Amino acid sequence: MAAPTLEARTHSGPSYTTLLDSIAEQHTRGTRSLQVLRVLQDEVVSGRWPEGSQIPVEAELSEWLSVSRSTVREAVSTLVHLGMLEPRPSQGTFVRARTALPVALSEFTVGYQVDEIRLLLRSLELEAAPGAARNRSEHDLDELRALEQRGMDGDRVAVGAFHDVLFRLAGNSLLSDLRQGLESRIRIDVASGAVCAAAHGALAEAIAANDADAARAAACAHVDLRLSSV
Ligand SMILES: [Zn+2]
Repeated sequence: MAAPTLEARTHSGPSYTTLLDSIAEQHTRGTRSLQVLRVLQDEVVSGRWPEGSQIPVEAELSEWLSVSRSTVREAVSTLVHLGMLEPRPSQGTFVRARTALPVALSEFTVGYQVDEIRLLLRSLELEAAPGAARNRSEHDLDELRALEQRGMDGDRVAVGAFHDVLFRLAGNSLLSDLRQGLESRIRIDVASGAVCAAAHGALAEAIAANDADAARAAACAHVDLRLSSV
């Protein structure tokens, strides 16, 4: 990795960045920590450190950025607080989310009623399904079909993963991040999984046929079942 110029990474941005600044300032002790935070944040947001990947260890980051290990530790800790990084005992630190939006949304929607959140989630599902129908590749379809089958076989994790993939195929990361943040605010009853899985066949068919209208109709028919149990 080429060593970045820390000074060049300090910038002011949209309100989201300003909010991040204020949170970061509560967790870091100085300008240098904030600059390091920005560099690490950039690695995650840009996808150079992809979701699910392990980030370099503290000593490596310290050498790369020419700062103390405690400065690195502060910056990493802030990104953990923001839900972008995740420490795993005895393993290391991993990228949990590309942006802080899911965690921020989860925290900042505490004052809203579950019904209000559910309505917004419903509208996101109705946008994701036609998007997936338009964008899917043959490989995507195989993945979706496999999850559909596992869901029918009673695999509850696969039922949820079907929706994760559907949102990914929609190709709109904001849609996915909004959904992730909002879903963390509600409880989806695993008992509804069988009903949900049974409806995935129609959704997969529409997506296979690249039929956006049919995908929206199939999503409409089953999203209320999925979200009614919260
Ligand atoms: Zn479902």
